[in-house]
Amino acid sequence: MTTALDIQGLQKTYGNGFIALKGIDLRVEQGDFFALLGANGAGKSTTIGIASSLVNKTAGKVSIFGYDLDTQREQAKAQIGLVPQEFNFNIFEPIVEILVNQGGYYGIPRAEAFARAEVLLKQLGLWDKARDQARTLSGGMKRRLMIARSLIHQPRLLILDEPTAGVDIEIRRSMWEFLRKLNADGTTIILTTHYLEEAESLCRNIGIIDRGELIENTSMKQLLNRLDTESYVFDL
Ligand code: ATP
Repeated sequence: MTTALDIQGLQKTYGNGFIALKGIDLRVEQGDFFALLGANGAGKSTTIGIASSLVNKTAGKVSIFGYDLDTQREQAKAQIGLVPQEFNFNIFEPIVEILVNQGGYYGIPRAEAFARAEVLLKQLGLWDKARDQARTLSGGMKRRLMIARSLIHQPRLLILDEPTAGVDIEIRRSMWEFLRKLNADGTTIILTTHYLEEAESLCRNIGIIDRGELIENTSMKQLLNRLDTESYVFDL
């Protein structure tokens, strides 16, 4: 079995001395739909920030589809699409241009990137807005734009940091449908969330981070069985 994300002994101490990750081991296999749960400040964003090369690690090893983050960073980065929590696009740019420009970062020719953008924007219900500036979109639409942009280079692993936070339930469900299909078509997905309901609905396997440590790493089914039979403290 191919491992999509392999993390060993991951540690992170921020510049102010705060120890955010205390040595995490985590494997996510190809094809998985994996949830990373944890309370505010547990270390979820730090973990995926390191996996997607936005944050430098202090110690440990990370590889993406076998590419080592220290020695094969560019190949590792090419495997990943990231949807960060914050909107980080130019709000004055037309939506389709945001995607085409992102394609440019990965060396995708303009015509090819445009064709891919059309497919993605149609799938995510944004094609009729393709020529509008991003600032005209609602919060839920901006979130979908971030998902479309993260997929323009057809990554094998998609990582989403709380993609449905603040999104109303109808849009949330349509995003879930999109992600389910993407996963069924072969993309490995890792999602951080505060919502157990979201993890339950989408994910096969789950990791729970608590104050920089991975305290659970199991199948969703096993965790839910346990929650039924034990008075497990689950304070997210
Ligand atoms: P949330 O659900 O609120 O996004 P999280 O689980 O994603 O939380 P992180 O964002 O990874 O948590 O943060 C883990 C800890 O590291 C928090 O206590 C946070 O305050 C701290 N932290 C994050 N970034 C920095 C930074 N640049 N400098 C210092 N401390 C930081």
